[in-house]
Amino acid sequence: MRATVLYGAGDVRVEHVPDPRLIEPTDALVAVSRACICGSDLWPYKLMKPGEPPRRMGHEAIGVVEAVGADVHTLKVGDVVVMPFAFCDGACVFCQEGLHTSCIHGGFFGTVEVPGAQAEAVRVPLADGTLFVLPLGEDDALMASLLTLSDVMGTGHHAARAAKVGRGKTVAVIGDGAVGLCAVIAARRLGAEQIIMMGHHPDRIALAKEFGATDVVSERGEEAVERVRKLTGGFGVHSVLECVGTDQAMRTAISIARPGGAVGRVGVPHYEAIPASEPAFYNNLTVGGGPAPVRAYMEELLPDVLEGRIEPGRVFDRVITFDQVPDGYRAMNEREAIKVMVKP
Ligand SMILES: [Zn+2]
Repeated sequence: MRATVLYGAGDVRVEHVPDPRLIEPTDALVAVSRACICGSDLWPYKLMKPGEPPRRMGHEAIGVVEAVGADVHTLKVGDVVVMPFAFCDGACVFCQEGLHTSCIHGGFFGTVEVPGAQAEAVRVPLADGTLFVLPLGEDDALMASLLTLSDVMGTGHHAARAAKVGRGKTVAVIGDGAVGLCAVIAARRLGAEQIIMMGHHPDRIALAKEFGATDVVSERGEEAVERVRKLTGGFGVHSVLECVGTDQAMRTAISIARPGGAVGRVGVPHYEAIPASEPAFYNNLTVGGGPAPVRAYMEELLPDVLEGRIEPGRVFDRVITFDQVPDGYRAMNEREAIKVMVKP
């Protein structure tokens, strides 16, 4: 089959690799019908160091179950499933607490150890706990939105939860990528009154407004902080959804939170220590977040997608075939595309 392999910074290739097969009795094989390129794939795409082993990329997919191991009980061949970016047993202490990304038997797709889903098929460990069966056929018009439950919509929702978004709250979203845009959807869904999108790409800002952003701040650094203060009566926002992961984004996040507020960070951190610890301390801020347990959120978000109340699938502005995957990485890296769907 064909699969996406990252060899080095800027060097991503589609190659023929051996077909995946069942290894453990708890495995399933899934034929991928849709996969994505993620903003987090761009970090290794930009920064992979010489000498690092190649990686089979991709951690977001919808597909059809092709085979199941002897110990798989809740899935059958032909089921249409969403694959979350992390696999989990669904049974351990952390899975039971809804923190599936900390599953004691779990792990992440698209790593050196676990081949990813930008491929024609993928082996899914702990299939019963990991995969989420959809009540629809694989060509349903809602598939783009359902595909976002594998990562970006659940991640935006996690940012909103970690930042304690609720009815009547003021919210700022840092980052206008697919996760930031889904964070706007999530904030609105949880009842936020004011949602300030902080970003500067016109196409993304337009979509953010359609998703429910009430204000836009396109400045950066100190100027951005001043603008948010002005928009919030001088105090800052209750909730900051940090969807970038840089030191600068985190510094801004802490600077625009009002006393007693919360920052939910879901951008993979590319800083050693959380910056601005002094204002965070004196303002009694909560700083939370991490990899989203998207598997835990699927049941909650599914009805809103099925009934059309949210349309996160609109973040996909480009659909490509496997041969075009390297160009898909380039397009996302150059901010030419918001989010790329791969459809074999
Ligand atoms: Zn678990």
